[in-house]
Amino acid sequence: MSDFSFDVVIVGGGPAGLACGIHLAKKGVKVLLIERGRFCGGKNLFGGVIYSESLKEIVPEFPKVDPFPAERPVTEEGYFIVSKEGVVKILHTKKTPEESFTALRAKFDNWLSEYALKKGVFIAPKTKVVDFLWKGSQITGVVLDRPKSFQDDRPTEISAKLVILAEGVNRVLTEKAGLVYGPFKPEEVVLAVKEVLQLPKGAMEVRLGVSENKGLAVEIIGEITSGLPGTGFLYTNKTTLSFGVGIFLKTLVDLNLKPYELHEKAKEHSIFKELFQGAETLEYGAHLIPEWGIKGLPKLYGNGVLVIGDSAGLVNPLFREGTNLAIYSGLMAADTAFSALEKGDFSAKTLKTYEDRFKESYIYKDLILLKDLKEFLFRNSHFFSIYPDMLYQSLSLYFSAQGRYKRDVIREIFGIIRKKRGLFGVLKDFLNIGRLFW
Ligand SMILES: Cc1cc2nc3c(=O)[nH]c(=O)nc-3n(C[C@H](O)[C@H](O)[C@H](O)COP(=O)(O)OP(=O)(O)OC[C@H]3O[C@@H](n4cnc5c(N)ncnc54)[C@H](O)[C@@H]3O)c2cc1C
Repeated sequence: MSDFSFDVVIVGGGPAGLACGIHLAKKGVKVLLIERGRFCGGKNLFGGVIYSESLKEIVPEFPKVDPFPAERPVTEEGYFIVSKEGVVKILHTKKTPEESFTALRAKFDNWLSEYALKKGVFIAPKTKVVDFLWKGSQITGVVLDRPKSFQDDRPTEISAKLVILAEGVNRVLTEKAGLVYGPFKPEEVVLAVKEVLQLPKGAMEVRLGVSENKGLAVEIIGEITSGLPGTGFLYTNKTTLSFGVGIFLKTLVDLNLKPYELHEKAKEHSIFKELFQGAETLEYGAHLIPEWGIKGLPKLYGNGVLVIGDSAGLVNPLFREGTNLAIYSGLMAADTAFSALEKGDFSAKTLKTYEDRFKESYIYKDLILLKDLKEFLFRNSHFFSIYPDMLYQSLSLYFSAQGRYKRDVIREIFGIIRKKRGLFGVLKDFLNIGRLFW
């Protein structure tokens, strides 16, 4: 006999689990969400940008909510291409700033969990799911890391018609459920180190040109990762900056690099040194990003179980999507769960409709589109080393060409390109990028 019984148990209180829980509770389903952290978001970090279009699917009143859980609207986004000597900034002013907001997970997830509670989701924080209950090949519930009672130290068991795994990148239970074989490989995940920095009062506004309702979201490539495949990021929060560097775990292992050393080295670059002058570190942490893509996609359903969000590897590194994909997968899983509850059938055959829905979505199509991206980046690491230098040096010549015969300037620029990569090399690179997507 189990200790408690629910229609649906969700493992993990990140955006995927919370979105799924809210959607189910709104339909009147008895749903329990279990989170191992002290509170939802308490064990988590991300860059990060939240896309309001996905959030509105579960919180239609967003952004007109009180308290407001995000930091700043993103009014400008783009790239910093950092060479050894300087930086080329590509910034785009957004026409629709209400599209995305910067956020801090501890605050955002906590707010979303309060919303979920109000909608009727039961939430058990400080609780870890360690195993499943099985009836033959059917998952029928979960086993917790908590004893039944003071008198009985056997683990608590919760029965459920359906278990939804939203456990994030470490996917331990997804493996236990037999939906994926073996742990991920070091080339399938990026390890990101992130710091939240408090600048002296007024410095962020002056140094980055932001004001109360203006915010910046920037991806950084080049010298930020010491020219290795990976990216950095810089986001403006209400009163702080989020700054981080992410690189494939395989590169760190192969080159025996310490992620925090790479992060510290990035901060030493003159542009960041200047930007962070007088800054105080408020938070520091590291987190994995699942980038196994379509080739490493787990089976998304089994008897009595579904997998959503990062556990399935639903991120799009090129377009900075993760949270929104987690939310969408949570919604698709909730719809599938609801149909299964109506039918009273939780077999893999019925739950396959989740995979069918997923395959019709842009998330799946995008994963197919990016199927070779990782290998491409490993094969073409010069995009992160040669190109930033070449671009910076060429633009330096272009922007200081006054008083010179311009044919000489153009020749010099071609000279830089020839020396760094060769004209044929550049042509080949562009053709390869084209071939990657078409
Ligand atoms: C450095 C970094 C920057 C990022 N930047 C962005 C960005 O700018 N924009 C964007 O959209 N996405 C970004 N992402 C990706 C985004 O954070 C994830 O895709 C998203 O959080 C996935 O949500 P999730 O709910 O699937 O998993 P998570 O948010 O990881 O949530 C999983 C939850 O499950 C809990 N859990 C795990 N195991 C158990 C267990 N056994 N029992 C109970 N609870 C458990 C964990 O404590 C955690 O709270 C970034 C990620 C990183 C690491």
